[in-house]
Amino acid sequence: MSNVIAEYIWIDGTSPTSQLRSKTKIFKKEEILTMGTVTMGADSLAIWGFDGSSTNQAEGSSSDCVLNPVFICSDPIRGGDNILVLCEVLNADMTPHSTNTRKAAELMSEKYKTHEGWFGIEQEYTMLDSITNQPIGFPEEGFPESQGPYYCSVGASWIFGREMAEEHMELCLDAGLAISGINAEVMPGQWEFQIGPVSALEVSDHLWIARWLLFRVGEMHGIHPSLDPKPVPGDWNGAGAHTNFSTRTMRENYQSIIDGCEALSKTHDLHIKNYGDGNERRLTGLHETQSIDQFSYGASDRGASIRIPWQVEKDQKGYLEDRRPSANMDPYTVTKLILDTICSNEPQ
Ligand code: ADP
Ligand code: MN
Ligand code: MN
Ligand code: MN
Repeated sequence: MSNVIAEYIWIDGTSPTSQLRSKTKIFKKEEILTMGTVTMGADSLAIWGFDGSSTNQAEGSSSDCVLNPVFICSDPIRGGDNILVLCEVLNADMTPHSTNTRKAAELMSEKYKTHEGWFGIEQEYTMLDSITNQPIGFPEEGFPESQGPYYCSVGASWIFGREMAEEHMELCLDAGLAISGINAEVMPGQWEFQIGPVSALEVSDHLWIARWLLFRVGEMHGIHPSLDPKPVPGDWNGAGAHTNFSTRTMRENYQSIIDGCEALSKTHDLHIKNYGDGNERRLTGLHETQSIDQFSYGASDRGASIRIPWQVEKDQKGYLEDRRPSANMDPYTVTKLILDTICSNEPQ
């Protein structure tokens, strides 16, 4: 009888920025069929446990935490019928663990579901050589040619790591994730992929799995992808996670996009506190960012906190881009806050 290999993936309690963890569970194919997983999805898949004292999620004296499957996709690395299983973490009494940010995001999505919010997240990251910890494309001593030629470029002098970025894209597609593109970024060795537009929970679940696949494919290339907001200090671009958002109303008229920007202007500090650790090193007012302590919005303005893309201004409908979240942000928390701030100010 054949087996289904399930990789249970979860978000740990490392502070200030959580890390991904995973371990492998082998099912008989028959068990998977009996549970109804093929037709019913994650809800029907068996819960599992782990040692929370090794992941900053529990004390050694009562270390058991529960893995509750919330999203399943095919495992593009193992292939066949094997699956990746994203889990939320619960306490032993089945209440949400304090590090579980998904539960609150789920409640917020439910609260504002009639607004039909869509998110598209642009995940930037930097490929570090896993031995030297330097971005690939940086020489052992000193610096490469300064920024200018690298963004969306072609050619061996400017492009570093394309093979891995392409491989990652293929893996996301094979897994069935809503990946919508990739590009080389402004700093050498820096790349971006985009997920969406899809609902808040979908974009967040898919982004966490896409991040896991990124770290996983990095193992095969000797590359550790960094989500640090400013991997190289000085005159080098940082790494963000621009979060594009629309409601049904925003997709129909421009004034509600402006209303959304105005609503965001009133909660700037709360959002910044939850938009990723170390973001103050990135949001300096230089390198296509607004300063962390200022809020602004504008059409086509890459120096604003919120940008309204030129096409959106031209069409007088569409979406806005929150440029503030850093590359290491938690999408459950960011999408929850944006939904709350904008939808609570929007007639539904
Ligand atoms: P740029 O680099 O110019 O900021 P990208 O093409 O990298 O733009 O990213 C644009 C993002 O906007 C994509 O992730 C896409 O999914 C998202 N997007 C497009 N339309 C909408 C929409 N109506 N609502 C939310 N997000 C959207
Ligand atoms: Mn982009
Ligand atoms: Mn970018
Ligand atoms: Mn962008």
